[in-house]
Amino acid sequence: MIPFTDAHTHRDPHDPGILALRNLDSPQELPAPPCPGILLSAGIHPRDIGKYDLETLEACLDTHCCAAVGECGLDRTAEADFACQEACFLRHAELADARSLPLVIHCVRAYPEIIRLKKRWKNTVPWIIHGFRGNAETARELLKHGFALSLSPVWLRHAETLHPEIAEAGFLLETDDGEESLPELYERAARLAGTAPDELRERIHKIFTGIFQHE
Ligand SMILES: [Zn+2]
Repeated sequence: MIPFTDAHTHRDPHDPGILALRNLDSPQELPAPPCPGILLSAGIHPRDIGKYDLETLEACLDTHCCAAVGECGLDRTAEADFACQEACFLRHAELADARSLPLVIHCVRAYPEIIRLKKRWKNTVPWIIHGFRGNAETARELLKHGFALSLSPVWLRHAETLHPEIAEAGFLLETDDGEESLPELYERAARLAGTAPDELRERIHKIFTGIFQHE
């Protein structure tokens, strides 16, 4: 049976039917012992800038064999100065390229800026917008510039339609730090995308493993 994949979660799923990218809440967090269904990601969240340094993050990425760098990004509601957020984000982009690891991005009210940075950066690894909840135009722009989208569970719960460009391009699903059940999110997304649930699960699994388990 193909597992459900969770592209961004803050909890260990403890479910053999789920393959998850578990985000460490800080580069200093000690993860649970390695488990086949759990991949790790580590980064400095924009609201934690100043709390952790990049050396600690580098050590964490190496020690725990992380499968992705992040979450990191830009957030207009975070306290840290925006130029400082950009600089920190680009250091993450550098670490991701150097390790050939995908980059998981947290982006709040800064989609044009993240697109501008990507155009300049010319990254060699996938950049994934996690918690996507933008409108159709934003989705189109992000997809046009080669971002992968992982849909916000809260947004999905309230959505009445799925922008056709997202359904067509393919997307990831995630539980983030919410209470939503992953299988229910899949069911809902399948209904909105007009796809059979098994087909969607297979398609998302392929995208997930292509990005996070690429060897
Ligand atoms: Zn998160």
